[in-house]
Amino acid sequence: MRLTGEMPSLRNPPSGCPFRTRCPFALPACGEAVPELRRRPDNRHVACIRDDI
Ligand code: SF4
Repeated sequence: MRLTGEMPSLRNPPSGCPFRTRCPFALPACGEAVPELRRRPDNRHVACIRDDI
């Protein structure tokens, strides 16, 4: 997937996930904390709070 939209300011990044302002799957919870890197059952590593995308 290719992100569209403007890059957020590096001096004033958005709260939570740094992709939150451009991610089409963002939820309100995405702004609460930076997602931790974790391993999914298929052995891929992701830093996203959603399991359904
Ligand atoms: S945590 Fe996942 S769903 Fe939420 S904004 Fe970041 S990449 Fe998108």
